[in-house]
Amino acid sequence: MNTGKIGKVYLVGAGPGDPKLITIRGLEALKRSDVVVFDRLAGPQLLNHARQDAERIYVGKLPDRHTMKQEEINQLLVDLALQGKSVARLKGGDPTVFGRVGEEAELLRQNGVEYEIIPGITSAISVPAYAGIPVTHRDLASSFSVITGHESPDKLDLSIHWDKVTNATGTLVFLMGVAKIGYISEQLVKHGRSPQTPVALVQWGTRAEQRTLVGTLGDIEAKVSEANFKPPAVIVVGDVVGQRETLSWVERKPLFGQRVLVTRARSQASELVAKLDDLGAETYEYPVIETRLPDAAGNVQAIREALAQADVYDWVILTSVNGVEYFFRWLESEAVDIRRFHRAKFAAVGPKTAQELAQRGIRADLLPESYQAEGLADKLDGLVIRGQKALLPRGNLARELLPKKLRELGVEAIEIDVYETALSAPKDMWIAEMLEKKQIHVITFTSSSTVVNLLEALKLNGIDDPVAALQGIEIVCIGPVTAETAEKRGIQVTVVPQHATIDGMVEALAERRRIMRGE
Ligand code: SAH
Repeated sequence: MNTGKIGKVYLVGAGPGDPKLITIRGLEALKRSDVVVFDRLAGPQLLNHARQDAERIYVGKLPDRHTMKQEEINQLLVDLALQGKSVARLKGGDPTVFGRVGEEAELLRQNGVEYEIIPGITSAISVPAYAGIPVTHRDLASSFSVITGHESPDKLDLSIHWDKVTNATGTLVFLMGVAKIGYISEQLVKHGRSPQTPVALVQWGTRAEQRTLVGTLGDIEAKVSEANFKPPAVIVVGDVVGQRETLSWVERKPLFGQRVLVTRARSQASELVAKLDDLGAETYEYPVIETRLPDAAGNVQAIREALAQADVYDWVILTSVNGVEYFFRWLESEAVDIRRFHRAKFAAVGPKTAQELAQRGIRADLLPESYQAEGLADKLDGLVIRGQKALLPRGNLARELLPKKLRELGVEAIEIDVYETALSAPKDMWIAEMLEKKQIHVITFTSSSTVVNLLEALKLNGIDDPVAALQGIEIVCIGPVTAETAEKRGIQVTVVPQHATIDGMVEALAERRRIMRGE
């Protein structure tokens, strides 16, 4: 749509890969743009912050397509802006450091398109930092240079004055240099650096694949080829490399190197994601369920009738955080005051559900020791009295165990499906590839429906045999019921915590990693 208004282009530094290493200004630009133009170095997870309706244009390499030429990208930005769109162009690291931002900006200027250059954290310093290498140090290096290595081995860069570069600063940082590591070390030694000078290569810094190789100018080329070390990597040359021995920190985190696929609904994933993140995992959110209000007329009618007689219930039994949230949404939309439940005791299945109630000013009267329907059923046995009435606001997929048990005890159990759980199968351009390349190390399932839906969603993303695709991946299930659903479908479950909670899951996974690492 051409409104006659010219759009604006934000040339945004996305940082080195860890999606949290973007600036607030960059994030704001990303959040409000109509179009996001991105490539592989500018982390896929960042796209979650784009507007849902924003157009996403990938300009990076694909198996069946070459990387878009720089000139084509420049023109694309101009065209989009001339269509009146605001555009966030995400660039790895900082856009001004070997980012060709000059060319993009120049063409925008020529076409009268307004732009902003939003700096980012360059890989030149952040990637070494994640490997425990500070580029300067009070005693070891008081200056540093950032130099391009030009990945292609045949293109020996004549613009680098090795005689000057070699000794101009303490630390030398090379980007795009892996393929030419031999040539680079040779030049540095030739111009006066000792072959004993420490060198580190840090590959995929700040991501789950981060890997560091340390050597000296004398032996690094051999080490690189022996380890079959591949780009992208940052090369650091100088005494600061030795700092790594004392300063390395990322590798010490219990879940370092683990990319975890979180299948929960996005609105519910944040706690799990934050905890995994804290322990050093890289999380990849792929929500396969979404919850929504039920729309079947019969359903809505049943809810209305059940709420209209709020004062008859002896029990209100809540078995999930969602159940609480949607229950209160219904109270609001049906204009029912919570005080009309004055006769009822409130029971919660677990601490999270109880907390959700507490946030609304209701302290649960009952909380089982094991956070499952079974535990709650046991607890209710002996407390309920024949002839009592219980309201069970829940999701359409809730288990039958509790109402059945209540009925056995002579209680009138009224179930209302206050929300529905639906399959969500987001199109994801990376998920199939990541699974195939074994770049997903862990998958978390927090309910049976996440298991069933993931398999379905993967099929919809072109994976014919999803169960096979999950082989070899750590499968973490929140509790035995979820685990059983997974096992029934042929998925081998490797971690089930003692307590069916998010904390329990994360701890059990960390414990398993400790054992696997032999700690
Ligand atoms: N503008 C970017 C650099 C672009 S050049 C920045 O400021 O970081 C691309 C090179 O950056 C790669 O060849 C590699 O040397 C380096 N690089 C970028 N991200 C990296 C990462 N996460 N880990 C290792 N090297 C990275």
